[in-house]
Amino acid sequence: MLILLKKGTPEASAGLVASRLRMAGLAVHRTDHQGQVRLAAMGDTTALDWDEVRNWPDVEAAQKIPVPFKLVSRTFHPQDTVITVGRCAIGSDQLALMAGPCSIEGEAQAFEIAEQVAKAGATVMRGGAFKPRTSPYSFQGLGEEGLKILRRAADAFGLAVVSEVIDTQQVSMVARYADILQLGARNMQNYALLHEVGHAEKPVLLKRGLAATIEEWLMSAEHILSSGNSQVILCERGIRTFETYTRNTLDLNAIPVVRELSHLPVIVDPSHGTGIRNKVAPMARAAIAAGADGLLIEVHHDPDHALSDGAQSLYPAQYADLVGQIRTIATVLGRRV
Ligand code: PEP
Ligand code: MN
Repeated sequence: MLILLKKGTPEASAGLVASRLRMAGLAVHRTDHQGQVRLAAMGDTTALDWDEVRNWPDVEAAQKIPVPFKLVSRTFHPQDTVITVGRCAIGSDQLALMAGPCSIEGEAQAFEIAEQVAKAGATVMRGGAFKPRTSPYSFQGLGEEGLKILRRAADAFGLAVVSEVIDTQQVSMVARYADILQLGARNMQNYALLHEVGHAEKPVLLKRGLAATIEEWLMSAEHILSSGNSQVILCERGIRTFETYTRNTLDLNAIPVVRELSHLPVIVDPSHGTGIRNKVAPMARAAIAAGADGLLIEVHHDPDHALSDGAQSLYPAQYADLVGQIRTIATVLGRRV
C-alpha cells in the first residue's frame, strides 16, 4: 500500500504513522516528493482496516501500488533516482559512460585501457576480476589481485570502478575496491546475492537475465531495494532469442518501458547485446537515442589477444569516435556527456 501524508505533516506525526504501520507487522519505506511524505507499507496488508488508516491524523490517501515491483515503481517514487558515483550523476541529464575490458588481465593492459577510455570521456572503468564463464576451462579472472589492479588503473586516470561480484561471500571484499557492484546476467535471479548486495553500501548495476522478462528483472531490483539498498542501476544487455547472427538480441524496447515503470536509471551494454565489434557503435547510438541513461562498453587495445570477449571489444580509437557521436546525439536530447 502507498500512504500519502498531507503536505506539511510534522516529522513527529509522519514518524507516528510509520510506527503504527510497523506495529501491524508491515515493512515501511519512505520517500519524499514535492513536499509530501510517501510511505510504502509492505507485507500482509490485510492486517489493517485501510478505511480506518485513511482517517489517521495527517493521512491524505492510502492506495494500492498496482504493480508487483513496489519500491522500484514510479507509483511509489515518481521522480528519477540519481546515483552519484565519482564525477558522474547516473540518471541525471549527464550520460554515464562506463568502459573498459571484459576482464582485467594485468597491470599493463588495465593502465593502457584506463588511459584511453578516460581520454575519450568515460567516467567509470569496467573490468571483471571474477568472471562467470560458460566453460570451466576459460579464463576465470584474476580475483582480488585483478581488483587491486583495476582500482589502481582507474585511480591513475580519475575514473570510478564497476566490477562484477558472483558470490555472496565476496560482496564486502569487492566493495572495498569497486564503486559499483555489478550483478551479471547469470546471477539476476540469485536471490541470496541480491539480498547480500541489498545490504551493501555501494550502488549496484543489475544486468537483465539472459531470458528474463522486464517484470522479472524489475522484481530482482525489488529484492535489492527491499533489503535496504535503493541505489540500483538497471542494465539491458540483450536477451536470448532464436536469432543467430548476433550473440544476443538487444532489447531497446526495454528502455522506454523501464523508464515509464521505474524511477531507477537504465543503461545499455551493446557489447554483450550484439557480441560483434562492428555492431556495438550503431546499437550504442540507438540506445542513447531511445533514452538510455548511459552505456557500458567493452574496450581492449589488443582484442585479438583478449582473454575474454575480444570479438565484441572496441579498439580505443573506435570508442573515442563513438563518444564523439554520443555527444552529438546527447545535445539533440537536451543531455550531455
Ligand atoms: C560482463 O559484463 O563481462 C558480463 C559477463 O556480462 P553479462 O553478465 O551481461 O553476460
Ligand atoms: Mn564480457
